[in-house]
Amino acid sequence: MNDFIFKENELYCEDIPVREIASKVGTPFYLYSLATLKRHFNVFNESSKVLNSIVCYSVKANSNIAILNFLFKMGWGADIVSGGELFRAIKAGVDTKKVVYSGVGKTEAEIEFALKSDILMFNVESLAEVFLIDKVAGKIGKKARISFRINPNVDPKTHPYISTGLKKNKFGINIKQALVAYEKAEELSNIDIVGLDCHIGSQLTEISPFNDAVGIINKLLLKIIAKGINIKYLDLGGGLGITYENEMPPHPSTYMNSIKKILAGYDGQVIFEPGRLIAGNSGIFVTKVIHNKDAGSKKFVIVDGGMNDLLRPALYDAYHEIIPVIKKSGAKLKVDIVGPICESADFLGKDRVMNGVEEGDLLAVFSAGAYGFSMSSNYNSRPRVAEVLVDKDRFSLIRRRETYEDLIDKEIIPDYA
Ligand SMILES: *Cc1c(COP(=O)(O)O)cnc(C)c1O
Repeated sequence: MNDFIFKENELYCEDIPVREIASKVGTPFYLYSLATLKRHFNVFNESSKVLNSIVCYSVKANSNIAILNFLFKMGWGADIVSGGELFRAIKAGVDTKKVVYSGVGKTEAEIEFALKSDILMFNVESLAEVFLIDKVAGKIGKKARISFRINPNVDPKTHPYISTGLKKNKFGINIKQALVAYEKAEELSNIDIVGLDCHIGSQLTEISPFNDAVGIINKLLLKIIAKGINIKYLDLGGGLGITYENEMPPHPSTYMNSIKKILAGYDGQVIFEPGRLIAGNSGIFVTKVIHNKDAGSKKFVIVDGGMNDLLRPALYDAYHEIIPVIKKSGAKLKVDIVGPICESADFLGKDRVMNGVEEGDLLAVFSAGAYGFSMSSNYNSRPRVAEVLVDKDRFSLIRRRETYEDLIDKEIIPDYA
């Protein structure tokens, strides 16, 4: 089921032709469907009810405040990884009692901001960090609720750049050092231990790595509880994968039910931090063909969207389906779809078969709602693109396209230059 559908030969987002939106907002742009977002929300939310759980949406997947506001209004909290994300989440109306703060390098200023915002807990990734949080909390006279992020050394079988739960990764505390970390933290006067956390990676398409990780975490949980430490929150992170090409990720309810069995003896709350699963297939990236370029053995379609707008192909060699917004007949050609950036890694798709693509045609790059705009940059001094949200037969800009002025408005020429 999808809200990006072809009617006749033309792509619609819900009830609006994508072409019509492009003619109003220009290209390139990100286009999100509220109906899809709602459906993903509902599926995950319903599935999560088999456990006593809190869902904290992973803000970094898609951090537009319109998207955040929708999810927070529906009752979800936020998983944040920076002070900037906390700021966004608060502006978008989050209940800070449902905010968990992950990440290996939280600064003093960020910790203080989070403490003053009274977030639910810090997911602490090292002993050094718990000492710093204790110090900052003491300074401002607060107690910091924390959990430790434990690295269970499980292979998530995903792309190495989005694997986080192997001992060679920088994330979390080595499981062998976990008990010592809890003991040390217990001695700190401004720290209140409330949880245990684990996030093994992203775009997982099999259930077994989750089962393995939760099994390992559950054993540790029992040991920690046996020490008399109260674990109110077991945070299992995000990571459930989506279909980009032909992946068949497990349904959230399969995942939840499987976890429920493993955690049969645990009576606290479980926290989930889904990101990609909620936003990924709720959005597409729309770009326009500038040229066809025939370089002899290789043929290129050069489009107006590049790696600065959608980094995933360049960064992870990620696959995104690319289909013309208006399907054409005509000669099939194998092409690379590339952007205008001065980097050879600047491609959106390689060796794709396209029918008669011409200058001015619109292409839809699918599954771009997560880690799309949020990873975009101004590289090559390209203004960041517009974001649009559709609801049935209406649409709104949820971020205006940047202007050239926006590119330089924070820059200063000092008088000695
Ligand atoms: C990125 C991240 C998530 C979200 O991962 P998805 O694969 O998008 O679900 C959740 N928790 C943490 C700690 C993360 O770093």
